Amino acid sequence: MISLSLPRSPSYDAIAKAAEERILILDGAMGTMIQTLNMTEEDFTASGHIHGPSCRHHSDHPQKGNNDLLVLTQPQAVEDIQLQFALAGADILETNTFSSTTIAQADYGLENAVHDLNVAGAQVARRAADRATAQDGKPRWVAGAVGPTNRTASISPDVNDPGYRAVTFDDLRSAYGQQIDGLIAGGSDLILIETIFDTLNAKAAIFAAFESFAKVGRQLPIMISGTITDASGRTLSGQTPTAFWHSVRHARPFTVGLNCALGADAMRPHLAELAGVADTRICAYPNAGLPNAFGQYDETPEQTAKLVEVFAREGLINVAGGCCGTTPDHIRAIAEHVAPYAPRQIKETADV
Ligand SMILES: [Zn+2]
Repeated sequence: MISLSLPRSPSYDAIAKAAEERILILDGAMGTMIQTLNMTEEDFTASGHIHGPSCRHHSDHPQKGNNDLLVLTQPQAVEDIQLQFALAGADILETNTFSSTTIAQADYGLENAVHDLNVAGAQVARRAADRATAQDGKPRWVAGAVGPTNRTASISPDVNDPGYRAVTFDDLRSAYGQQIDGLIAGGSDLILIETIFDTLNAKAAIFAAFESFAKVGRQLPIMISGTITDASGRTLSGQTPTAFWHSVRHARPFTVGLNCALGADAMRPHLAELAGVADTRICAYPNAGLPNAFGQYDETPEQTAKLVEVFAREGLINVAGGCCGTTPDHIRAIAEHVAPYAPRQIKETADV
């Protein structure tokens, strides 16, 4: 069972206090920023191959596109992107660990690197956060990013066998647990379970997070972020925002919200629904619009920021940032546009 009786982590109350005073800013997209660097296979592996067969990070698989590996092979590049986001106004920096589970790293033959990826991912973000704080004196926090993995526990990938599952709850719980242990060991202040398209996967991540908290004897704030994948306003596993909230509220998350998929404009009604039912803080970080025919994002910083400002004006949000296609300029514009508005008031029943 989930235990809520653990003491809070050292930075928990400071983050909660800051969230009472203003809308906090989350950073923007790492993946689309890395794409602009046009890195080669040699850049990804730092050496042309992942070390020798005796190395614990050995893999015969090509690594180009394994963005998470860069925290080990190009840590400075990742840190520089995170620093740009921090100086643009982000209070919370996400670790570059979206796919750092044994399940997702199996595609690259790097299951054995998972612990190091998560520890290093948190350390790199922490360095960027501390560099920004040294420049402007503002506190910054690191959110250990936990992605959905590339397998779903509630839906069969085989149309001819609807009962089949490519992954079980316990597989996910174990993989997430290993990831979250590493994220905490590396110095994460929060745990961000994001881009949730399957609520059962998210429940496994929540369960794993509390098991990890029990191991270290302290509870970190958890951010939970679903993604709406179609115009009907449901997650891929078929839930409305209201149903999604009722599936995860037992975790008493620090925030619940939406990210990715739809741009800010299409996200607004779903966010309003969530804000209407959730007795905790709301976090929104949309893409820079919908991708164009080439998979690129066209919304300018000003356009995205004006749409996110609507969330703030309507009293819907406590944390705002950007997902795919958002650059440091998008985050700067979002920070400026939401600054005049008070954070959303949480219903009185909340003890989170
Ligand atoms: Zn996204």
